[in-house]
Amino acid sequence: MQQFDVIVVGKGNAALCAALSAREQGARVVMLEAASVDESGGNSRFAGGVMRFAYDSVENLKLITEIPDDEAKDTDWDSNTKDQFFDDLFRVTSYRTDPELSEALVTKSLEAMVWLRSQGVRFVPTYRAQSAIVSGKRKFFGRMPIEVSGGGPGLVQYLTDTAVKKGIEISYETRAVALIYDGERVLGVKAKVRGKPVDFHARAVVLACGGFEANPEWRTRYLGPGWELAKVRGTRFNMGDGLRMALEIGACPYGNWSGRHAVSWERYAPEFGDLNLPHSSYRHSYPMSLMINADGKRFVDEGVEFYNYTYAKYGGEVLKQPGQLAWQVFDAKVKDILRPEYHDKAVTRVTANTLEELAAKLEGVNPEAFLKTVREFNAAVRTDIPFNHAIKDGRCTVGIEPPKSNWANPLDTPPFEAYATTCGITFTFGGLRIDPRTGQVFDVHLNLIPGLYTAGEMVGGIFYFNYPAGTGLVSGTVFGRIAGGAAGAAARAK
Ligand SMILES: Cc1cc2nc3c(=O)[nH]c(=O)nc-3n(C[C@H](O)[C@H](O)[C@H](O)COP(=O)(O)OP(=O)(O)OC[C@H]3O[C@@H](n4cnc5c(N)ncnc54)[C@H](O)[C@@H]3O)c2cc1C
Repeated sequence: MQQFDVIVVGKGNAALCAALSAREQGARVVMLEAASVDESGGNSRFAGGVMRFAYDSVENLKLITEIPDDEAKDTDWDSNTKDQFFDDLFRVTSYRTDPELSEALVTKSLEAMVWLRSQGVRFVPTYRAQSAIVSGKRKFFGRMPIEVSGGGPGLVQYLTDTAVKKGIEISYETRAVALIYDGERVLGVKAKVRGKPVDFHARAVVLACGGFEANPEWRTRYLGPGWELAKVRGTRFNMGDGLRMALEIGACPYGNWSGRHAVSWERYAPEFGDLNLPHSSYRHSYPMSLMINADGKRFVDEGVEFYNYTYAKYGGEVLKQPGQLAWQVFDAKVKDILRPEYHDKAVTRVTANTLEELAAKLEGVNPEAFLKTVREFNAAVRTDIPFNHAIKDGRCTVGIEPPKSNWANPLDTPPFEAYATTCGITFTFGGLRIDPRTGQVFDVHLNLIPGLYTAGEMVGGIFYFNYPAGTGLVSGTVFGRIAGGAAGAAARAK
């Protein structure tokens, strides 16, 4: 038996932020991480590291990273005011996001970034992925001008270094299996340390051990038939253990339990994410493509928004297609603006000098139907509207279903390229119901469970149906800080 003030289950971004915040309260903290050191860090370690937070101007950004004065002046940094952030979150979640949780997320997002910096995290502008030169001036689009230096691996490493420095204990290869609960309050965690049962006791427990995205049985149960076939973009360790453990003692489920973040992903990607090639399966340039299914047909408006606002739901659309397959087809006009992953080695790509030749190479696709789709699409493009990938250019189609609302280009310039994709799941939206001020978990009768807190992917009620890019990490930091701070304070108050 081991005694602590606070136990944090998990060692991703939310868990590390919770542990550091509990430590700031003077608590003795242990983190239980199911993975070995090599595989530790959860989905946070797979993340690209872009972060969506509220900012009014470049002056706010300077609180997070160094930006030389001339760069600050010569760049259009856009803005993501609190109102814009709220509007995006409400719009993409079809106005279902919990108002109190989203209020906490949005209003505390900038201070969360400043706090991360104070914990040793380094940030840089997202010049490569989120900006372009427009009329001679660099302009950001998509409201995410900052990312972690070194991406998700960088974030986890910075925070781990600080946690170790601050005396937080980390027990690797330690899988939490059940809460120790006396019927009234949570007293600790039953775990398996390298296969051997060990009880960890504490005055407060923070569960920050992810959703159930890696568990094919739960995916099928909650997301629906077919979801067992999705590829997992990140860690293999998020099996829904934390959710199960909490539900077993009567915690209240909350949010969009059939919802998930899922994207277009390399068709032949491995079953789980690969830490050595974390980005090569991304296929986020689809707004510049035609997405074609096995019947040779388009099935979504590829250009309805910047990818930041559609990518998290379009994976689900790909999963619904025959064979869970879609080809993204581009012509030479947009080749130079595709994201760098399209040029990696581990991609399923075919190229051709004519559309007929390409049609024959699109494995699994009806070639005649594909050629008919392209002919009709090409004839429908409003070529009188200029193309500009850095803004929603309004260059659309007329008279076809589904339409393409922006960035519509006739496919007419060889060589043509096509990329085979399937659905890759990122994380699940269903979670637990918490008090947004403390991160403490409610039971099914909406009484708070003494000693139990949660953060990160396990918080239900924020995301429904869709998700604005860059929000997962910020949510983990905001609610990790809230839960860890409250758990630390409660444990020290006794
Ligand atoms: C490929 C990819 C790219 C992404 N890019 C971005 C991005 O650029 N920006 C962004 O904001 N978000 C991004 N995300 C989403 C983001 O990574 C997640 O929203 C976020 O990392 C979730 O943090 P978390 O701490 O809740 O969970 P995780 O980071 O997944 O941590 C969960 C932890 O719990 C551990 N665990 C699980 N079960 C147990 C158990 N029983 N006992 C002990 N430990 C356990 C896991 O090992 C892990 O350490 C991306 C995700 C992926 C997969």
